[in-house]
Amino acid sequence: MSPRKIGIDLGTANTLVFVPGKGIVVNEPSVVAVSVWDNSIMAVGAEAKRMIGMTPDSIVAHRPLKDGVIADYRITESMIKYFINKVSGRIRLFKPEVMVSVPAGITSTERRAVIQSTMNAGAKAAYVVKEPVLAAIGAGVPINSPSGNMVVDIGGGTTEVAVISLGGIVASASTRVGGDKIDKAISDYIKSHYNLAIGERTAEDIKLSIGSALPQKDEGVYELRGRNLSTGLPNNIQVKTNEITNAISDQLKSVVYTVKTVLRETPPELAADIMDKGMIMTGGGSLLSHIDDLITEATGVPAYVADDALLCVAKGTGVALENLETYKRSVMNKK
Ligand code: ADP
Ligand code: MG
Repeated sequence: MSPRKIGIDLGTANTLVFVPGKGIVVNEPSVVAVSVWDNSIMAVGAEAKRMIGMTPDSIVAHRPLKDGVIADYRITESMIKYFINKVSGRIRLFKPEVMVSVPAGITSTERRAVIQSTMNAGAKAAYVVKEPVLAAIGAGVPINSPSGNMVVDIGGGTTEVAVISLGGIVASASTRVGGDKIDKAISDYIKSHYNLAIGERTAEDIKLSIGSALPQKDEGVYELRGRNLSTGLPNNIQVKTNEITNAISDQLKSVVYTVKTVLRETPPELAADIMDKGMIMTGGGSLLSHIDDLITEATGVPAYVADDALLCVAKGTGVALENLETYKRSVMNKK
């Protein structure tokens, strides 16, 4: 049976679809494969990611939300349609209400485009809610309370930081630094230091396996095999945790800077609440080892990683959809 309510976490790296009563029903990369010949859309999601590399000349991979802004409306719309269709089944007795998470820095034009795309995809009503608000709801933060609630969401393309009170964003900032730029810094380091070219996947794997936001006494070691760029010969190297910490320090500084910016802009009475309660961290990037400790150390405000950090935004859409009246102050638009 087609669901009456659908929540979509349209992330820069991953798109998750939440159906109340069922939970997370789709979790796929935010990738669209486009034919270079006629610009047609060949595949979306996991299939699009698989197609990349198989026919590298005729198909290009797009990540339409890569930097947290909608770079291409047509491609974004096809992605929204694909995910709604995927969970709706063939026979639709009624149109669903759809909630989509959007970056906090979205412009009104982009917001209208997301709503229009969602309506075009067959929604009865389209709601858009800013991602940090949904992240906080999904993490169980009481955002409607009159106190200050702070959330730091580190995704693939962006880091979004917000202070929320009475259901609305009081202060926020975002930076186009997230997991992707961290991976890039790792591959740049391996290239410049060891003369070895590695792909995005390997760089991410190094981060997941031995990465840390703070130097460690007990370092992890990662063995890498590649071709030396100057000799052309195969080469085996070992990288250690603290080299990676060093290699990604500029990216981590940007994240810390963004958190500090929001803390500075927070009204004093709410800042006092946040000092007491701490801030909650969500998104895949917050799973980098010791990034909570780094932020705590750098700001003096305790940071905690939410349970199921990768799922908070999607879960938040479910909670908000089921309690629209409670969260009406956080829902930006409706049609
Ligand atoms: P988005 O919401 O932008 O789609 P996600 O919240 O899904 O992003 O997070 C994706 C990012 O999280 C990727 O850069 C990925 O490498 C990173 N990530 C996922 N798990 C971990 C982990 N255990 N440690 C460090 N980074 C992680
Ligand atoms: Mg996200």
